[in-house]
Amino acid sequence: MKYISTRGKVDPANASLAIQQGLAKDGGLYVPEHWPHFEMNDSPKALGFVDFSARVMAPFFEGDALATSLAQICREAFTFDLPLRQLDAKTSVLELFHGPTCAFKDFGARFLALCSERIPAASNKQKLVMVATSGDTGGAVAAAFCSCTTTPVVILFPKGMVSARQEKQLTSWGQQVQAFAVRGSFDDCQRMVKEAFLSSAWQSRFELLSANSINLGRLLPQMAYFAYASLQSFVRTGRAPSFIIPSGNMGNSAAALWAKKIGFPIEKVIFAHNANKSVLNYFSTGQWQPLPTVATLANAMDVGRPSNFERVLHLYPHLKDLQNVSSAVSVSDAEIRKTIAEDVKLGHIWCPHTATAAFARRSYQQGNFILVATAHPAKFETIVEPLIGKSVEIPEQMLEILAQPSLSKEIEAQLSELESSLAV
Ligand SMILES: *Cc1c(COP(=O)(O)O)cnc(C)c1O
Repeated sequence: MKYISTRGKVDPANASLAIQQGLAKDGGLYVPEHWPHFEMNDSPKALGFVDFSARVMAPFFEGDALATSLAQICREAFTFDLPLRQLDAKTSVLELFHGPTCAFKDFGARFLALCSERIPAASNKQKLVMVATSGDTGGAVAAAFCSCTTTPVVILFPKGMVSARQEKQLTSWGQQVQAFAVRGSFDDCQRMVKEAFLSSAWQSRFELLSANSINLGRLLPQMAYFAYASLQSFVRTGRAPSFIIPSGNMGNSAAALWAKKIGFPIEKVIFAHNANKSVLNYFSTGQWQPLPTVATLANAMDVGRPSNFERVLHLYPHLKDLQNVSSAVSVSDAEIRKTIAEDVKLGHIWCPHTATAAFARRSYQQGNFILVATAHPAKFETIVEPLIGKSVEIPEQMLEILAQPSLSKEIEAQLSELESSLAV
């Protein structure tokens, strides 16, 4: 299997190179050159997720050096459950928040870390993972590289702009993870990472790896869990389900469309966005126009220019074709609050992100739906608890992190400051 860039200006790459590079050299995103096809009959229904995911991803690593370790990587990466819980006759919820940092990003981050550890270094320079984060990504990446590799991780987050529990998940991993509280915005953090990647001084010292959500190594395992859940639901109900996905940078949405593309029983993929409406506007106008980011209660989805939309457009260049397989909704903060407050009476506690999917579910009558639960509500207790009038039980793995000491340095939003504070 080879991967081509959505912008078509680089040579096809194998999986290892695409994972190592993250972004293609022409600024595009890597997508498969062709699509394997799974028949329902050869889909291994009875397998657990570890074996299933290795089977589904196998064609995507064909001819790559990682192919022989794929099964082992899946075994080491997916050490936690992904229950598909039935809510009512026509609705279930796929809980993707049982990993080390209680958000779906653990799947992609752990798989990526284990792949990257096995990809031979292109030089004898020190490997270094750099990530700018507004919340969940940094924690998942730090946890993954810490437990699966010896590669040091540098995290930049905007000082005072992440929740207290998110900050613990960024700063409590010990010496291997250096967390910097930047006196600036998330955009400043992203700019500093980009500058490091472009800096010849940094390039001569380090072999830099970017772990953001456009990396192929994060997308493929996400495709695998949509395939897995769709098949489970199909077997249970006899109907192909539609996924309702809380969406921001659209890594999950693109991955679900890939699972449909390779033949898994998925009716539609519904993109549930918060007040950031660029995708919704595309569905109504056919014009792709990224917008400035709006801050919302579902902050991990605060994206005005979703990077992975380029993959969606590459798969479905014509609006009509995209409309046949998907739709988009935008959910306001007031609707997020209302959904959390109302659904607790039915026994469901949603995080603000998952609440967008639960709200979107209300506008559909016909069909079989899977809501995608992207994070545990205990991560966002300051929003959720006042709405439900009680405390949210804290999962074991979060308690362990909360008990660890925090380590972070505060710096100005300058690459030179980061350079002088770095301890590797
Ligand atoms: C990152 C994140 C999202 C958005 O996912 P994308 O793949 O970027 O669309 C949604 N919910 C939570 C909790 C997240 O951390």
